Amino acid sequence: MQPSQPPVAIDFADETADVVVIGGGPAGTTTAHLLARRGWRVTLLEQARHPRFHIGESLLPMNLPILQRLGVLDQVAAQAVYKPGAEFAPHPGEGVLQFHFDAALGRSPDHAYQVDRAQFDATLFHAAAAAGVDCRSGWAVKSVTRVGKQFRVAIKHPQGQRKIAARHVVDASGRSTVLAPMLGGKQKDPRHASAAVYNHFIGGPAMAEPADGNIGVYHLPDGWLWLIPLPGDRLSVGAVCGPEALKARRGNLDQFLAEQIAASPEASQRLGRAKPTGPAQAEGNYSYAVRRFAAPGVTAVGDAGCFVDPVFSSGVYLAMSGGERAAECVHRSLQAPWLAQLARWRYALAVRRLVGSFSWFIYRFTTPAMRELFANPRNVLGLEQAVIAMLAGNGAGSLGIRARLLAFRAVYALTAWRLSQTRRSNTQPPTLDPVT
Ligand SMILES: Cc1cc2nc3c(=O)[nH]c(=O)nc-3n(C[C@H](O)[C@H](O)[C@H](O)COP(=O)(O)OP(=O)(O)OC[C@H]3O[C@@H](n4cnc5c(N)ncnc54)[C@H](O)[C@@H]3O)c2cc1C
Repeated sequence: MQPSQPPVAIDFADETADVVVIGGGPAGTTTAHLLARRGWRVTLLEQARHPRFHIGESLLPMNLPILQRLGVLDQVAAQAVYKPGAEFAPHPGEGVLQFHFDAALGRSPDHAYQVDRAQFDATLFHAAAAAGVDCRSGWAVKSVTRVGKQFRVAIKHPQGQRKIAARHVVDASGRSTVLAPMLGGKQKDPRHASAAVYNHFIGGPAMAEPADGNIGVYHLPDGWLWLIPLPGDRLSVGAVCGPEALKARRGNLDQFLAEQIAASPEASQRLGRAKPTGPAQAEGNYSYAVRRFAAPGVTAVGDAGCFVDPVFSSGVYLAMSGGERAAECVHRSLQAPWLAQLARWRYALAVRRLVGSFSWFIYRFTTPAMRELFANPRNVLGLEQAVIAMLAGNGAGSLGIRARLLAFRAVYALTAWRLSQTRRSNTQPPTLDPVT
């Protein structure tokens, strides 16, 4: 255990902490948990009360070792649906292809889980409390102000208002990105200005086979659709599309989602007679990153740092894996302030590398070339196994995986070129025979 440093001065606050973590989702609970294990006095502030609804229910195999390290793997497994892989339908109406995690190159678990996020996040929150974090729910952070080398965190809670003095503040507030202004601001990603419409359904077909636990990812004419089997006979279904499609819709969100589902025979069949459990919800404008992931005394983790399209279910893994690295960065910065800059560089590099292992694929997922490659998987030189390793969350893993993923990029470029040539020759006006 790392002995805690002397308490910070409290002339401008009601209480003190070494670290204040804003947000009790996967990123915040992981960071806080691991910092408390190292002996720091950590206060975690969550504005909602667990268990609370959250979208993002499909985990990756590489989540499992993190859950194991946090000591919650068995508990999560007992509440979850077993997920052996993923099924993709690259061309609506032409059937699905299954990818199994046990075929992945490298060392990643052969399965993952589909979780009810209300339960999952509450489990992580309680585990952090058990590790010594001062976890408070119903406490919303209103402002964070730098005061010399410390921070004043102003909070609204059910009994009133309070100020906490902290040496370090971690922003794990998810898409609220509370501390983005302290990190150079937030940049939207123009390549991925998508929007999502989603809902939970109940009463679908019973799950008879293990593969019934697979996530389904189905292409649509303008985007894609997910289907995630959840505990208790429920299904999470959502459509990701361009914001224009959402704006141009004629009916309400429920009708829009129903139309998107109907556009995928594979998803419609899998959903069967399941009915929505409530009104559909939407999330717009959703890909972005803060300019800096860490600044002196401030660290952003999970969605508070950046958000990428969830087509490969990477969000919770990035949040928790980022949480492990953020805890390391904050620990080093507090323990040896003269090495803090180095710790911040290492952290930012690690986050960029993790996100980068997914984002190249995400940006190209809906292109004709990627659809073609997913529709015709070939394991030449282990390329398919390397792509499955990426799907498992291990795309930044061994050199062998990274080299094959680079080779896959070359295959993609060739496929894109070939398809563009075919399109061009199909659109050439027919040559007329000269009239003699
Ligand atoms: C449509 C959609 C589908 C997705 N599907 C998947 C998927 O299948 N698999 C996957 O892995 N990921 C998915 N994701 C991404 C995933 O949901 C997120 O990446 C993940 O929840 C990030 O965790 P986090 O801890 O960073 O943020 P969050 O889980 O959002 O947690 C942030 C917490 O901060 C709290 N908070 C916010 N502001 C304050 C404040 N001022 N004071 C105190 N507390 C505050 C919030 O209440 C919240 O509890 C999806 C996302 C979207 C939008």
